[in-house]
Amino acid sequence: MLTQIKGLHHVTAMARDAALNNDFFTRVLGLRRVKQTVNFDEPSVYHLYYGDAAGSPGTIMTHFPFPHIARGRPGTGEVGTTAFAVPRGSLGYWQQRLAAARVGDLEVTESFGETRLGFRAPEGDALALVEVEDDARTPWVGNGVGEAEAIRGVHSASLRVRDGGASEELLRFMGYDAAARAGGVRRLVRPEGNGADLIDIEVLPEVGRADLAGAGSVHHIAFAVADRAAQLAVRAALLDTGYQVTPVIDRDYFWAIYFRTPGGVLFEIATNEPGFDRDEDSRHLGETLRLPRQHEHLRATLERTLQPLDVSGEAA
Ligand code: ZN
Repeated sequence: MLTQIKGLHHVTAMARDAALNNDFFTRVLGLRRVKQTVNFDEPSVYHLYYGDAAGSPGTIMTHFPFPHIARGRPGTGEVGTTAFAVPRGSLGYWQQRLAAARVGDLEVTESFGETRLGFRAPEGDALALVEVEDDARTPWVGNGVGEAEAIRGVHSASLRVRDGGASEELLRFMGYDAAARAGGVRRLVRPEGNGADLIDIEVLPEVGRADLAGAGSVHHIAFAVADRAAQLAVRAALLDTGYQVTPVIDRDYFWAIYFRTPGGVLFEIATNEPGFDRDEDSRHLGETLRLPRQHEHLRATLERTLQPLDVSGEAA
C-alpha cells in the first residue's frame, strides 16, 4: 500500500465562458484566483486556478474554458460532486449568498452526519459546501467572504462509477481507508492527509458513460504528493500493479503523472512543489497572464484573443 499520497491536490473541470467562470469562483465563492495561465497542450485556452491564498494543495479547483464547447452530459466514469469545507454554522449565510447570485439547484441535505448545501455553478458544475467543525486550514478572505464563512479548501470529491469495487480497491492501494457507507455511497478517507481527505464512491450500475468533453464536467482529479521522489515511487508502484501511467510532465507549478482508473475517471498525481509563487510574487498571484516558456512567443496573440476576465473592473 502506498503512503505518499496525502489527499487531493486539485480538481480540474471544463468550462465555456472564462469571465463567468472567474466571476463565480472568485466573487461568489470567494476563492482567490491564484494563477491565470493557459492549457499547456492547447495554449489558445485559459487554465484558471482558484484556491486559498497560496493555492495550497487540497484547496484548488481549476478550469479549462473552451469558448465554443457544449454542456457536458453527466454519467459514470467521472467525478460527480466537488465539495468544499466551510465552518459549522455558515450554511445559512451561503444559502442566502448563493440564492442572491441566482445559483441553481440549491439543496440542503444530511449525509455521513454532515450538513451539505449542494448547488450548480453557472455552467453546470456539481458543487457543494459542507459544514466542518475543525478545519485547520486558513481561508482566503480577500474576495468579500469573511473568516467565519469562507471556504477552507476541498472537502471531498465523488466518483460516479458503475462498479465501485475496483475504484475502492485502487483507493485503498493509494492509502485510503474505508470510512462509512450511506445511501449507496462508499466514503473513503486518507488518514493524516492535507485536509482534502475524503473520496465518495457513488455506485450507479445502470447509468451510462459521461461525456467529459463538455462545460461543467470534471476533466480529471489530482492527488497530492510532497515531491518528485514521492511521485516517482507512486508511479513505479502503479506501473507494477498494471496501470498505464504517463511519464512525468512539468506543469510549471507542479509535476504531474496521469492514469485512467478502472471506473473510467482520469487520475493525476501532482507534486506540492514548486507551487504557484515560482513565477510571481505571492501578493499578486493570478493577476496577470503567466505563460510557460514554450508558449511565451504566443503572448501578444494570446493577450489579444483570450477573453478578458475581470469584466466588471473588479480585481479578483
Ligand atoms: Zn491537473
